[in-house]
Amino acid sequence: MRILVTGGAGFIGSHLIDRLMAQKHEVICLDNFFTGRKHNILKWLDNPYFELIRHDITEPIKLEVDQIYHLACPASPIHYQYNPVKTIKTNVMGTLYMLGLAKRVKARFLLASTSEVYGDPEVHPQSEDYRGNVNPIGPRSCYDEGKRVAETLAFDYYLQNNVDIRVARIFNTYGPRMLENDGRVVSNFVVQALKGEPLTVYGDGSQTRSFCYVSDLVEGLIRLMNGEHTGPINIGNPDEYTILQLAQAVQNMVNPDSEVLFKPLPQDDPKRRQPDITKAKTLLNWQPTVPLSEGLKLTIEDFRDRVTSSDKHHLASV
Ligand code: NAD
Ligand code: UDP
Repeated sequence: MRILVTGGAGFIGSHLIDRLMAQKHEVICLDNFFTGRKHNILKWLDNPYFELIRHDITEPIKLEVDQIYHLACPASPIHYQYNPVKTIKTNVMGTLYMLGLAKRVKARFLLASTSEVYGDPEVHPQSEDYRGNVNPIGPRSCYDEGKRVAETLAFDYYLQNNVDIRVARIFNTYGPRMLENDGRVVSNFVVQALKGEPLTVYGDGSQTRSFCYVSDLVEGLIRLMNGEHTGPINIGNPDEYTILQLAQAVQNMVNPDSEVLFKPLPQDDPKRRQPDITKAKTLLNWQPTVPLSEGLKLTIEDFRDRVTSSDKHHLASV
């Protein structure tokens, strides 16, 4: 098949591309490199079955493809809040253009939605029928309301135009290739511990998240795309940790001497988050296989190479 991956130079997109290329598909990666890096897809650049297009999805584009994985959108709060209007445009205009493309060429379309559509949830764990508790005018709204509109658009193209859609609600995902300055909690703690800096815990660290390793996530996305169910389906790892527990796990694995520095909790930061993955288990026969200890080990190895080499580079340049 010829498969388009928007946001393919990013963290999840590049791991997805690795799997699709290994499955011998033709892959088109479309990215504006806001948070993506050419380095993530470097190994495919000379492959005749791979194409890279530098393109911003807030502009329309015409391509002929069989499937579209629509991932383009900054995912980390510091990046999606950098230019909130642009984040909304990416979610609304970008998703609209990609759905228009899917309609024109009759491609199957998978939206990378998010657990953020549940906002600061009042039910726990979150199942797909929960409608969420989202602030429409807060600092996270450009992202979570943007994704809610993206879901609405996907379902309206499905109901009105028979576009063959799939909607994945992705929960916190981590792994190699996250940016060092990504700003999300796993990469922040790992980079800080490797550099001997204090681990910045926001609030008292009692808020929870459930962390999914990227290879498990990618397997879930591929199953959803190639299965029969539109979704929305939660894809995430139900193992729930407080942020303080995560900090301690990273300390134990990287640097037991590293300190914890408490910082203010950002506005609208969700207090608890854990996916109910009954649907993914029963409809996709999918569940995560990589425990946090193993996933963290692989992530730390990846960052260790990058953090030490960038320090060397930094030292060489001063
Ligand atoms: P990422 O920031 O690493 O990747 C996003 C990619 O999209 C980057 O390569 C970026 O350059 C590209 N992009 C952004 N705006 C664009 C635009 N206007 N035009 C073209 N390309 C653009 O993030 P990620 O963690 O890989 O997330 C991928 C997708 O999964 C996102 O849609 C995100 O909302 C969703 N998601 C991720 C998580 C997670 O924990 N990683 C959780 C829920 C949902
Ligand atoms: N967080 C933290 N220290 C950091 C970065 C994040 O304590 O250096 C907290 C953040 O306040 C949130 C949790 O970790 O409660 C997860 O944050 P992240 O940005 O990774 O994801 P999201 O909030 O979007 O789930």
